[in-house]
Amino acid sequence: MEDTQWRTHRLELDDQSLREWDAQVLAADPDGIVLDRSAFYPGGGGQPPDHGVLLWGGVQTRIVDARKGDDLYLIPAEGDPLPAPGTTVRGALEDERRTALMRTHSGLHVLCGVVFRDFGALVTGGNMEPLTARMDFNLPEVPAGFREAVESACNAEVLADRRIAMEGRVAVAVGPGQGDSVVAELDLAAGEVFRVEDGSVDAAIALGKQLRADSYEAVAGIGGGKIIDVTKFAAHMAGIPMVAVATNLAHDGIASPISSLEHESGKGSYGVVPPVAVVIDLDRVRAGPPRMVRAGIGDVVNNLSAIADWELAAADRGEPVDGLAVTLARTAAQAVLHQPGTVEDEEFLTVLAESLILSGIAMTVAGSSRPGSGGDHEILHAIDQLFPGAGTHGELAGVGALFCTYLRADRRLFGLLSACLARHGLPRTAADIGLSQAEFGAAVRRAPATRPGRYTILERLDLDESAIAGQVAGFAAAVASGA
Ligand SMILES: [Zn+2]
Repeated sequence: MEDTQWRTHRLELDDQSLREWDAQVLAADPDGIVLDRSAFYPGGGGQPPDHGVLLWGGVQTRIVDARKGDDLYLIPAEGDPLPAPGTTVRGALEDERRTALMRTHSGLHVLCGVVFRDFGALVTGGNMEPLTARMDFNLPEVPAGFREAVESACNAEVLADRRIAMEGRVAVAVGPGQGDSVVAELDLAAGEVFRVEDGSVDAAIALGKQLRADSYEAVAGIGGGKIIDVTKFAAHMAGIPMVAVATNLAHDGIASPISSLEHESGKGSYGVVPPVAVVIDLDRVRAGPPRMVRAGIGDVVNNLSAIADWELAAADRGEPVDGLAVTLARTAAQAVLHQPGTVEDEEFLTVLAESLILSGIAMTVAGSSRPGSGGDHEILHAIDQLFPGAGTHGELAGVGALFCTYLRADRRLFGLLSACLARHGLPRTAADIGLSQAEFGAAVRRAPATRPGRYTILERLDLDESAIAGQVAGFAAAVASGA
C-alpha cells in the first residue's frame, strides 16, 4: 500500500470515533505539516478530507485539507502559525463534519447496493460533501417510479440496521467432539474460532452475544446438528449471515429456517434466518458412526407423512398448502425412498445429502416446518420428552412417520416406507427403539400437546387410551407381517 511509507501512524484506521490525540511534529512548512500520529482522514474513496486544529503553545493551527505525497501532509489555513518540528501538539478533528461525512459515506453504500440489487446498475461517478452527495449509475434510462422505489428500498435497508464491518472478519463455531480436528484442517487467517459447549439455548445466546460484540461479517457453523442449530440461532441474533458446514447427515436441519435447541424443560424449535450457504463434508460424514448417517433417512422419508398430514389440515381445516414447498419436500423424500443404494456408497450419500438440503429449503419456502414435520414429529417430540435417549431424531422421525401412515390406512405408502426403513436397518416399531407398546402408546397420547395448533392425523382421530393401544398393537402386527 502506498501509505505504508508515510511516517504518520494513521490513528483513524484503528478507531473511527477518535477525535482528539497528542502528536509530535515531524516537519512543517506552509505546504503541509507532517505528524507522527494523526487521525485526519486524508480523503479517498469519494470521501473528502477532515478539517480540524492543532493546538500548541497557546495558539492553534487550523487544518483545512490534506495532501498525499511522500508523506501525509496536513494543510494549514493560510496565515495560521506553524509549529516547529519537534513540537508536541494536540490534534482535534471537527467532529460535526467528520460524523456527517461518515453518515453520508455509509448512505452512499446503501444507495449503490440497492441500485445494483434492484436495477443491476453500477456506479460510474459521484462526489460527496457532508450530508449531500451525487452518485451516477450506468442506467440506460431512468425507470418509472425510480426515485420512490430507491428511497423506500434504502429506508428499508437502514431500518434493517445491518452491521457495517470494516475488516471482513469471519467467526467459526465448532463443537466439543470434532472441534479440534476441524480447526486443525482450517486455514484461519482472518477468522476466530468459538467453541460451543452443547446444543442449548444458553450456548446459542452466549455465542450470539460474542458475535454481536465484535463486528463479524459472517459465521460458519462446522459440525453436527447441535453446532449448526446453535450457530443458526446465534447468527440470527447477531444479524449476520451463516454458512452451515455439515459433518453428518442425521437430520434435515442443515439448511432449514429452524433451530432446535435444548432448554430447562426439553427441546424447543425457534424460527431463524436459514443459512446463506450449505457445505456437506462427505468424507467426515462417512467417517462418522453409521447409525448417525442412516438416521437422516428417517428425517427425509417422513416428509411423505408430513405432507399427507398437511393435506388433511387443508381438507379439514382449510389450512393453506404451499405447492412449491410440497414439491420440494416430496421430491426429496421420493429420491431417498427409491434410491436402491446404502449409506456405504457415495451415490446414495449424495442423494441423501441433497434431499436433506431440499427438505430445509422446503421449510424456508413454506415459512414453517410443515413440509417435514407432522404427526411423525409430534410423536418424536413426545418420545424425547417421556423417554429421552430412546432413539436419534432421524430414527424417531421414521418410526413416527410409519405409525402415522398406518393410522391413515395408506397401505401403499406404509409398504414403501416400511421396506425403506428395513432396508437401511432403521427402527420401525416401539420394540425397535426399546419401548413397550404401552410406553409408545403414552407417547402417541401426549404427541398432539407437543405441537399445539398443528393439525395432523393424530388430531383428526383424537384417539383415547384404549383406541391408541389397539392401533399400536395393530401397527406392530402390520410391520411384522410386512403388510
Ligand atoms: Zn426432523
